[in-house]
Amino acid sequence: MTLSTKQLFQKAEQGGYAIGQFNASTADQIKAIMKIARALKSPVIIGTSEGERDFLGVRVAVKLLEAYEEETGLPIILNADHTKSAAKAEIALKAGYNSIHFDGSELAYEENVKQTKYVVEMCARFSADISVEGELGFLAGASKIIKEKVEIKPEYYTDPAQALDFVTRTGVDRMAIIIGNSHGISIEEPALDIARLKQTYNLIKGRAVIVLHGGSGIPDAQIKDAIVNGIRKINVNTELRAAFHDTLKKVLNESDETTPYKYLAPAMDAMADIVDNKITLFGSANKV
Ligand SMILES: [Zn+2]
Repeated sequence: MTLSTKQLFQKAEQGGYAIGQFNASTADQIKAIMKIARALKSPVIIGTSEGERDFLGVRVAVKLLEAYEEETGLPIILNADHTKSAAKAEIALKAGYNSIHFDGSELAYEENVKQTKYVVEMCARFSADISVEGELGFLAGASKIIKEKVEIKPEYYTDPAQALDFVTRTGVDRMAIIIGNSHGISIEEPALDIARLKQTYNLIKGRAVIVLHGGSGIPDAQIKDAIVNGIRKINVNTELRAAFHDTLKKVLNESDETTPYKYLAPAMDAMADIVDNKITLFGSANKV
């Protein structure tokens, strides 16, 4: 029997591994991700930010993933990444998304609690199996190559006690925390605050699983350490974008090929290689 969305995260918690969220905005990119998930028999999360899913279309995203689910037999989580309003969450839910990340991290704390709780209750009305992610702390950067140092100030970090209060009051299934991570790949290597992660994990385990955003550009050893200490979902976007873009640019520069499936294939392969490395690193291969 196929595991439900919530059960997939519970299984990751029991097994001590992380499920990768790979962001995409085109059918080609989704195909590249699914090829590897299928080969490695791994649970997988396709992430679409508001901009990515506006481009792809929410109905199209749902139908594409349903087709891949039938074809591969894999459980696929389709996540509405960094959703900033309940109205946007509702659009994704109506289209058939089975996972929502409500990002109220820019709101004042009490307002974040209030709006996140509202979204959790709305999701429950759609289906008992919609996994909801909340976020606390300030996530610096953007999903691109950043040619300067991204400053992560101490006040950006998630406070473990506040994370427990947030999870208890909102009822979220997943908690995105800031422990020195940022979006994008910057020139300086990040240093994750593992002690803070450990503290948060000890407080909220059994209530919610912990999510790491900005998984691009974090050294493998730190990712492994983060998983050992409680991270169960890791978001990867920039590394995929860069691999797809750089390869496509090279191919187009070096040839006059005009057939899309011919000039796109190498870019898809380059992206698939990154997904392959990440799934192996996250430990989710052969977990379905
Ligand atoms: Zn993110």
